[in-house]
Amino acid sequence: GSTIGILGGGQLGRMLSLAASRLGFKTHIFCPDPQSPAFDVTPHKTVAAYDDAAALQRFAEAVDIVTYEFENVPAATAEILSRIKPLRPGANALAISQDRLAEKAFLASKNIPVAPYRAVETNADLADAIAALGLPAVLKTTRLGYDGKGQRTLGSDADLAPAFADLSPKPLVLEGFIPFSKEISVVVARSLTGEVKAYDPAENVHRNHILHTSTVPATISPTLARQAGMIATAIVIALDYVGVLGVEFFVVPADGRETLLVNEIAPRVHNSGHWTEAVCLTDQFEQHIRAIAGWPLGDPARLADVVMENLIGDEVLALPANLDGDTQPHLYGKAEARPGRKMGHINRIGRN
Ligand code: ATP
Ligand code: MG
Ligand code: MG
Repeated sequence: GSTIGILGGGQLGRMLSLAASRLGFKTHIFCPDPQSPAFDVTPHKTVAAYDDAAALQRFAEAVDIVTYEFENVPAATAEILSRIKPLRPGANALAISQDRLAEKAFLASKNIPVAPYRAVETNADLADAIAALGLPAVLKTTRLGYDGKGQRTLGSDADLAPAFADLSPKPLVLEGFIPFSKEISVVVARSLTGEVKAYDPAENVHRNHILHTSTVPATISPTLARQAGMIATAIVIALDYVGVLGVEFFVVPADGRETLLVNEIAPRVHNSGHWTEAVCLTDQFEQHIRAIAGWPLGDPARLADVVMENLIGDEVLALPANLDGDTQPHLYGKAEARPGRKMGHINRIGRN
């Protein structure tokens, strides 16, 4: 059997490792944090920094394929590994998706609609960008933001200077505020031979800037659902991508109909795809492993309606007492239920 190397030891790495085991693969997790939840599910591990060249070399020699569960893998790390073993998805997907400006420029170059945006290096750039895009607007770091960290909504001129001072590193990106009616996402996969399969769109609700629920089916028209799938497909083709990719969209009302803007992409399995584990023939974790291993993709068909709910902080303590027969729990085994921390999720399965 072959061994899949996974960079990152969070819950996504853990779930990928579990799926890989079911397909007969071994997994080797590389992560600097010895407390990582993925370390619980495989004996093969490297605890080292992402810039530890010797550790990276040994890791690459011990595995057959390298993948990752987070998009902030340093470019130099990806470069070292990809010289030794196949890195899937490739370094271009990382470079684009870890930089909001590169990501928007890439999407726009493929005629995929994104929110209006400007690069902001200085206070003067910010003033120019506000003059062009208006208020309200959203100022974001280009790198390392997640769960709404690294961004500020600007409502009035008084908000500009403090937000500019607070956010680093520069450059930042200013986006026009999108008065969306809904947020949806599509998880899509592309195989080594170029086969593409997308899951049904999920409708996502955030609470305190953290994903709260993903509901499938989303309450959108069949036309819009098809468009979302087509955009996600166009993105993986344009990236010559191998693996699973998450695409977040804003649904924007315009002239009595709804249109789509891409908010961001994630070159990995996605929190808004956790529902696939309960109700799809092939879930997103198995799909990612199949793709990077060079297997044919599985069928993403959805067998039931479903609502995924994240368990944040001590919400996880209500389990298992509150489980009923239609609820699939998934706990990440994290020791400390800190506020804001993703501890697990549940999938509530609809039965007709
Ligand atoms: P994630 O955890 O999804 O990676 P993130 O920190 O990368 O989050 P974004 O996805 O860019 O942040 O934004 C988080 C949320 O903030 C969005 O899902 C949306 O609800 C809101 N938001 C972001 N940008 C805009 C915008 N331009 N207009 C309106 N709302 C926005
Ligand atoms: Mg993000
Ligand atoms: Mg997001």
